[in-house]
Amino acid sequence: MQRHAATALILTACLTQDSGEADWVPVNVVPSGYSELEIDRGVGEPTLVIRSDEELNYVVEMDIGPFKGVSVGEARFRSWLENSADSEIGHIETTFSGDYAGYKLDHQLHTRHLSSEDIALESFDTQRGSESRRRELSVLKRDGVWTAEYRYDGHCSGCEDESHFVKAFLGLGKPAHCKKCKEGKHRVWREPRVRTAPANTLDFLSSIYLIRTLILTESEGLETPLLDKDRLWNLSLTAGEEKDVSVPSGKYACRRIFIGAERPESEPEGGKFSGLFGMKGSMKFWVHETTGVLVQIAGELPLGPFDLGVRIRLKEAKNAPAGLRPLDD
Ligand SMILES: [Zn+2]
Ligand SMILES: [Zn+2]
Repeated sequence: MQRHAATALILTACLTQDSGEADWVPVNVVPSGYSELEIDRGVGEPTLVIRSDEELNYVVEMDIGPFKGVSVGEARFRSWLENSADSEIGHIETTFSGDYAGYKLDHQLHTRHLSSEDIALESFDTQRGSESRRRELSVLKRDGVWTAEYRYDGHCSGCEDESHFVKAFLGLGKPAHCKKCKEGKHRVWREPRVRTAPANTLDFLSSIYLIRTLILTESEGLETPLLDKDRLWNLSLTAGEEKDVSVPSGKYACRRIFIGAERPESEPEGGKFSGLFGMKGSMKFWVHETTGVLVQIAGELPLGPFDLGVRIRLKEAKNAPAGLRPLDD
């Protein structure tokens, strides 16, 4: 495990992918007891642990002028396990529903980690509300090579479905396909984009659960390859200062986690890293100091035309790790 100064925000060292790991296959997914699934991510790589039937509920708040802590929505993080005949599957899901100044957002991220020899993960990103958008990402083996497949949807301008047609301007000429709209039913999948990626690549949602490994192993920092759409990053998670953080479910002893995204040398320049639900800039993550459970995130959340400074704060924890207790409990 590499160690980093606790204050390092972004790693300056750029890692190159170790081609020696290309042969590693993520078949070693071992259920450790009945309550969690340990995803072995290769030699020397931090393990990802997915717990059975865990549910964490959060309030989403912002300050509007003199009004502090105005609720603008709710968020939920859930994990569960599924056994099929030939595969163990660990699921992680988060949903966010928000509403601000007439703009509605229902956003769901769902990731499946599979013990299959050919598929490592599948993740689904679905946005509904005032706008619709879908994205899917898979890390799988194709012709013996670990590959990422990314696809997204877009407006179906020019399709032949006449129900999508609108009347011509001033009624002159024939009805034609609408040029642009926000209706989900007018969206079609674009051609997938395919690239190589390390077998242990994560999506951002999974990396939030990897923070627990950082805390449980008492390390100061760890790294993972991460895909944001079809762009590869080296993500670093670094433990920072300690603080007691008060949220609706109580006051918790917390540790700050710094998240840094470094572009690998092999990636083309440009492109911005976007965090959970498209959060921008620096997200402030506070996790419980002994379990690594997420207690609060603060950051800028885009809600359609608005960029809102929000706080996502723990309200309720069901089947969370036993050590998660408020200070005054
Ligand atoms: Zn159409
Ligand atoms: Zn349309």
